[in-house]
Amino acid sequence: MEIIHVSAECYPVAKAGGLGDVVGALPKYQCKAGHIAKVVMPMYRTKFLYDNEWTVDFKGSANLGNWFFDFTIIKEPTNKLGFDLFLVDINGLLDRQKIYGYDDDPERFTAFQIAVVSWMSSWEHQPDIVHCHDHHTGFIPFMMQYCYDFARLRNVPSIFTIHNAQYQGWMGWDKSRYIPRWDLWKRGMLDWADSMNPLASAVKCAAKITTVSWSYLNELRVNSNGLEKLFEYEKGKCLGILNGIDNDVWDPATDKYLESHFSVKTVTRGKQKNKALLCSQFGLDPEKPLFVFIGRLVGEKAADILPDAIKSALYHMPDQACFLVLGSGETQVEWAFQQMTEPYKGSFNTVIGYDETLSHKMYAGADFLLMPSRVEPCGLNQMYAMRYGTVPIVRSTGGLQDTVVDMGDPDGFGVRFNHASVSDVEYSIGRAISVYKDSEHMEKMRKHMMQIDHSWESTVDQYTAVYESVR
Ligand code: ADP
Repeated sequence: MEIIHVSAECYPVAKAGGLGDVVGALPKYQCKAGHIAKVVMPMYRTKFLYDNEWTVDFKGSANLGNWFFDFTIIKEPTNKLGFDLFLVDINGLLDRQKIYGYDDDPERFTAFQIAVVSWMSSWEHQPDIVHCHDHHTGFIPFMMQYCYDFARLRNVPSIFTIHNAQYQGWMGWDKSRYIPRWDLWKRGMLDWADSMNPLASAVKCAAKITTVSWSYLNELRVNSNGLEKLFEYEKGKCLGILNGIDNDVWDPATDKYLESHFSVKTVTRGKQKNKALLCSQFGLDPEKPLFVFIGRLVGEKAADILPDAIKSALYHMPDQACFLVLGSGETQVEWAFQQMTEPYKGSFNTVIGYDETLSHKMYAGADFLLMPSRVEPCGLNQMYAMRYGTVPIVRSTGGLQDTVVDMGDPDGFGVRFNHASVSDVEYSIGRAISVYKDSEHMEKMRKHMMQIDHSWESTVDQYTAVYESVR
């Protein structure tokens, strides 16, 4: 099948979180399985853009309301990522340093989608599947079906994957003029609660909806930032497919970011070496269990409770643990962590920012990974941690619930808790400190979780089944 993935992120071109990892890996494994998977995304000013050669694939023009714009689709010609990669260049609109966070994001991503659909409808053939990811591509299923200019794509099935339903891309109805000539009777397919809502529109218009775990899908029916009734109504076409992880990138035996490699057999010594390097870099004591947090410092990740939970743990269990935090996000949370570095020197350190290399070193060197998330559609961090023999400490929600088994259960290897609260996190840290003292138990858990199969190969088959069901 020819599958066109449309996304705002794709690792290593541009990544802000798990969406990038998934779109960088799924197409590669689909190609390995014999499909022709391609990715089309905006052309941002990223390192990857400047480090690679590009050829022009298509030049076109379109309208965003009254604004007439030209766009160019460039292609990475060497199949370097294991799939064909296309970037959409819209001068002045998409070619920026950051992926998101601009006031004109609605215009940027709507223009991007119009360019992609215009490009696909210019082809002589039609793709088998258009697979859209998150709200930045949420208007595409609507445009393929109801915009007169794109009638050629009317019978091409679209699949929409929800990586995060908290962000929906809402915009006022005044922006409906951006959508190229469409069947006005279909207004309801763009609307939710009197706003244009790309995520809701995709849920209504796509042939099938997938979420990145089953538990997250169930949660959306009771908690999805206003779309609960929609998910209840559309449940017949929704299903959960757990993300895989890219074992080529995330393998402690070959990881290009690590100085010291290890495998299941050598995990205990291998982790010790990585921990020693990390601890000496950040002034932490390698004899104590090392807890890390890696991620966006936002409410969804419950990063706001971590400063108090860490302080409280260090107060009640003095000199028994070290903590290292890597992330960026809400200023208040960043500030709270930064304030802790001096008073808790030797037990706590933080790097505020995004650092791919350090994140790999942390998965390899840490003993425990903290994920108190309030919302976690799938969560990749816990799966990376498991692959690197790091015990995940997670709140029982979404994909965390589907992937982590508490160490109190048979074959368990993690710590689970129920509330995103200081006391639950602190209690879980206490449980982890206790188990850390039992080196045999630690080694058993490490070896067990490192061998759990989270590869993309099995996930690819599940997506293929979804595609087959709508063709
Ligand atoms: P989300 O997509 O909600 O942010 P996921 O767990 O699905 O969360 O994916 C997070 C991905 O982003 C992981 O690959 C994680 O290692 C990476 N990541 C998040 N924050 C940082 C950071 N500050 N530095 C490096 N990598 C990060």
